[in-house]
Amino acid sequence: MLEPLIYDLSRPGRQGVTLPACDVPPTPLPDGLARTTLDLPEVDQLTVVRHFTRLSQLNMGIDTTMYPLGSCTMKYNPRVNETAARLPGLAAAHPLQDPETVQGSLALMFALQEWLADIGGFAGVSLQPAAGAQGELTGVLMMRAYHLDRGDTKRTKMLIPNSAHGTNPATANMAGLEVVEIPSDPRGNVDLEALKTLCDDTVVGLMITNPNTLGLFEEHVEEVVAAVHACGGLVYGDGANMNAIVGKVRPGDLGFDVLHYNLHKTFSTPHGGGGPGSGPVGVSARLTDFLPGPLVARVQDQGETQPPHFSLVTPPKSIGRMKAFWGNFGVLVRAYAYIRANGPDGLRGNSEYAVLNANYLRAKLEDVYKLPYDRVCKHEFVVEGVWADAPGVHALDIAKRLVDYGFHAPTNYFPLIVHEALMIEPTETETRETLDRFVHALRTIAEEAHTQPQLLKDAPHTAPLSRLDEIAAAKQLVLCCRPVALSA
Ligand SMILES: *Cc1c(COP(=O)(O)O)cnc(C)c1O
Repeated sequence: MLEPLIYDLSRPGRQGVTLPACDVPPTPLPDGLARTTLDLPEVDQLTVVRHFTRLSQLNMGIDTTMYPLGSCTMKYNPRVNETAARLPGLAAAHPLQDPETVQGSLALMFALQEWLADIGGFAGVSLQPAAGAQGELTGVLMMRAYHLDRGDTKRTKMLIPNSAHGTNPATANMAGLEVVEIPSDPRGNVDLEALKTLCDDTVVGLMITNPNTLGLFEEHVEEVVAAVHACGGLVYGDGANMNAIVGKVRPGDLGFDVLHYNLHKTFSTPHGGGGPGSGPVGVSARLTDFLPGPLVARVQDQGETQPPHFSLVTPPKSIGRMKAFWGNFGVLVRAYAYIRANGPDGLRGNSEYAVLNANYLRAKLEDVYKLPYDRVCKHEFVVEGVWADAPGVHALDIAKRLVDYGFHAPTNYFPLIVHEALMIEPTETETRETLDRFVHALRTIAEEAHTQPQLLKDAPHTAPLSRLDEIAAAKQLVLCCRPVALSA
């Protein structure tokens, strides 16, 4: 059933709240500032509560169903993180407060910097970037600054594998660099020979995702890093897939010079509604001077008996600020709580379960869905959502039909190098029973694709609206249910 607009529930004179009588003399607004009409719905409180509760139930979210959106790591986020982020001493601190009055918040940020550096194998971390993509821009600006600082001015190219997330080339482009695409080999790795021929003294560096967006661990990662370093380039790691390797492999130990972490993916913050996120960057020793500031530093020599004391510092050759104030602090609190609650063994265990769950699904589906790169995966894997003997059915139809079975769709049509891609990431937080239900749904859909394809073409059947004109929805966006007449 279609939920009516709240305006359609409006009845003249209905009121949701009763305000106390005014106990001060009313003062009219100056002429010209007061609205003469205000077109708001007039509804009672219960109608409002029911309306929004019903709307909330139309959403597919991690609290209602498995959300196997590959690359995005849509895992369950323990509620204790929310409690921590809402503690008044943390949530109510003002960003302009004197650092002396927010030592606890700085201690939390300092610990998080240290832990992320340790987890990634890096010499320094900045918590400034507001998301993964902004972490990328931060990293690439630091790489550029590093070369320019050494007087090495002819480096203008960024090498990017063709399996990369779209934000990688977008970032390089925003930093004023030329993007050079590197092909993948038949096993889904970077084509090492192609890479070697492209490495020269005009290369700023390489942006690589490991495990990559096929969910595959780069088999020649050390040779890839060595080839880039040999021509004087730096290696950028896209850390969006860290959920597979935390506690197992440290990108810094592989020779990466800079990496962004997606705290809202790997380190537990609800996301998917557009933020806020957080994309801290970790760097090797040669880039620490370029980190965006301010960073939190521990002031030395307070003596054994004094509590540690923290201050804000900006590195000498810093690329400057990337974000107002101290980054998205609430997300930092959640990541801190998540890391402390899990500890090293818990974090490593989460990576292991994420990989186990993905391989379980892969093994249960590989006889009905074609795996273009058929090898043990990390935390996600990619299948082709198309069959030669069911030519009318596409990945999109499978994604829409999953809604009828109560599941959010996997990422589809990405990575671009897989035809009709469906990219599945169960994460560590799903139970065996849920994984089995998901397998059952996907196997049933594969059967339907062959026996009753129209069922898939018309899906979803259970949603209030089925297929929308997605182009019109984006290009002819109507944000008002009716023109609002506001006269001065
Ligand atoms: C999510 C993601 C990004 C971008 O991160 P945002 O936080 O969404 O800006 C970059 N690369 C990969 C592989 C990703 O999955």
